[in-house]
Amino acid sequence: MTSRSESLESKILLYYQFTPIADPQAVMLWQKALCESLGLKGRILISKHGINGTVGGTVAACKQYRKRTREYDGFHSMSFKWSNGGADDFPRLSVKVRDEIVAFNAADELKVDENGVIGGGVHLKPEEVNKLVEERGDDVVFFDGRNAMEAEIGKFKNAVVPDVETTHDFIKEIESGKYDWMKDKPVISYCTGGIRCEILSSLMKNRGFNEVYQVDGGIVRYGEKYGNKGLWEGSLYVFDERMHMEFGQDNDPNFVQLGHCIHCGVGNNKFNNCINEDTCRRQVLICDDCYANPRTAHCGREDCQEVAEAIAQKEEAEKAEAQKQGA
Ligand SMILES: [Zn+2]
Ligand SMILES: [Zn+2]
Repeated sequence: MTSRSESLESKILLYYQFTPIADPQAVMLWQKALCESLGLKGRILISKHGINGTVGGTVAACKQYRKRTREYDGFHSMSFKWSNGGADDFPRLSVKVRDEIVAFNAADELKVDENGVIGGGVHLKPEEVNKLVEERGDDVVFFDGRNAMEAEIGKFKNAVVPDVETTHDFIKEIESGKYDWMKDKPVISYCTGGIRCEILSSLMKNRGFNEVYQVDGGIVRYGEKYGNKGLWEGSLYVFDERMHMEFGQDNDPNFVQLGHCIHCGVGNNKFNNCINEDTCRRQVLICDDCYANPRTAHCGREDCQEVAEAIAQKEEAEKAEAQKQGA
């Protein structure tokens, strides 16, 4: 029997599957109608290579969605991750057809079949990651498959962090020659939940990286297994309003603090938007104390600094005016 509290409980589902989709438009319409009928909100992308989605709603609706979605041949074995949250965590339902379910600008290069991406890196379970490092030692290179900023608060020990602002930059980066030294080394690519490395590892192999691996289930799965006691250091950047999550308990003595406020240097894992929102989209590590003051709510760029100063002066003038009128 389901209790009242259980039936009212909400959750978020995260999932992806690489599989050939002959008619992405038809799958999009079906998924849209399915989500609408179940009252789910969230974001779903569909391409000829597969599906990538995050939806939230009641537990009953999520279960029904999972069951119905798996009825599609290519999605039969898709695994779904459960996360805390619900429909309210999304502004709306968005179901779209795109060239790519992750934007690497590699739509024509990526090849998939019913088993997933063709020619990707070997999947390593968390314990296999550790085993490879035990066996091959310093020869093993961890290669961060995320945007560089995400690694500011957490990464694998001694990982190489490419100079990447968005996944669009990866091809140029791995073709730059900067990483040719690792072409004959064991390279373990990793990202949040694994989807980006499915593609990245295949692009690397196509460009002469000979021994490429990927962490199965990504950092999330590795962190669930080892917490702060493995080869991972720091926090994990996440793409929702939490912005970051920790493995292990608060004040875990094994936790390694990588992130620091760019203004005062205090240990900080929270990204904030630069105050110059009109022309700067940067998310930067600024602690809550510094962020509360407009003078230290900017990313450090010169023009942003000027905007911050102007906002601070305007606020001060307004405060002085209010005091005068109150007196
Ligand atoms: Zn600070
Ligand atoms: Zn800025």
